[in-house]
Amino acid sequence: MKSVAINGFGTIGKRVADAVAAQDDMKVIGVSKTRPNFEARTAVEEKGYPLYIGIPEREPLFKEAGIEIAGTVEDMIQEADIVVDCTPGNIGPQNLEMYKKAGVKAIYQGGEDHELTGLSFNSFANYDDSYGADYARVVSCNTTGLTRTLHTLNPLVDIKKVRAVMVRRGSDPSEIKKGPINAIVPNPPKVPSHHGPDVQTVMKGIDVTTMALLVPTTLMHQHNLMVEIGNDVTKEEVIEALEKRSRVMVVEAAAGLDSTAALMEYAKDLGRSRNDLYEIPVWKESINVVDNELFYMQAVHQESDVVPENVDAIRAMLEMESDNEKSIAKTNKAMGIF
Ligand code: NAD
Repeated sequence: MKSVAINGFGTIGKRVADAVAAQDDMKVIGVSKTRPNFEARTAVEEKGYPLYIGIPEREPLFKEAGIEIAGTVEDMIQEADIVVDCTPGNIGPQNLEMYKKAGVKAIYQGGEDHELTGLSFNSFANYDDSYGADYARVVSCNTTGLTRTLHTLNPLVDIKKVRAVMVRRGSDPSEIKKGPINAIVPNPPKVPSHHGPDVQTVMKGIDVTTMALLVPTTLMHQHNLMVEIGNDVTKEEVIEALEKRSRVMVVEAAAGLDSTAALMEYAKDLGRSRNDLYEIPVWKESINVVDNELFYMQAVHQESDVVPENVDAIRAMLEMESDNEKSIAKTNKAMGIF
């Protein structure tokens, strides 16, 4: 049983903690918060996770709020085989020295640059690269979504070139200070966006160029892909390959799953924890091959698609499972992922 610490118990951290707790070969030995808010209280009182504080000077605030703490983040990582750093983008790099000093392995998230660890992770595309590694980064929600489907198509489809336009949610549902609330924002207003190069960190050599927009929605991202192909392939073959692949689901607009809102409703109907949809839904009606181009549209539940990847990254880095498909199947089973 391996010991996992979660540094940063926000949108991603609390989901990773629950996903780790659901596995039979690893356990959560602690989570960290910087403020004694409702998430800190829930971690301790509802989930039973030992709570450590990210900013030691704030200990009196936790005492005042009556939230029991087990120590500081430095104490927490002493006990861990690996730490999953789920702190906001610019905090992670400051923690690397602390992890190195403690001799603990660390997994970062997609808000960090690839260069921080020099190793990016996706369960389908490059699990082996992180086998036994000390530091790696699970790529972002958008990159995970693009990689999941593109990797599934390979080698059925001889991918020559990928062009993708991503319509991104303006903020996560709980955030109130981000936007836009009434605009469509080219973001970044340049081509390519960082997503294409990020896919290349886990799918070496793929020719992929991306453009991205922000829109006033919180539910999911939506991607539109145009793939130049070098072989004869039918849309039926593409549908079959995507249907067979776990963590990808082919959905039909005709069945009512015709928007990100409907997909989130579906996740609620499935009884998923926090209404999460870990799988990448691809709209069946959008899949088409015209001349030498494959087209498809997909969605990404930004709060949850990277969560199972973090569990697999733990297994790879701690050398608990050398076969990525075995880890994927084990994680899926424990989390109820299709
Ligand atoms: P978040 O703001 O929801 O949570 C971050 C947590 O870290 C909070 O609990 C915060 O209190 C805590 N924190 C802040 N400073 C800290 C410190 N010094 N020490 C310890 N904890 C500290 O952020 P998030 O959305 O969960 O994002 C975390 C990472 O995951 C980022 O790299 C982000 O880019 C990436 N990511 C986010 C999403 C998403 O859609 N939310 C999707 C994929 C990847």
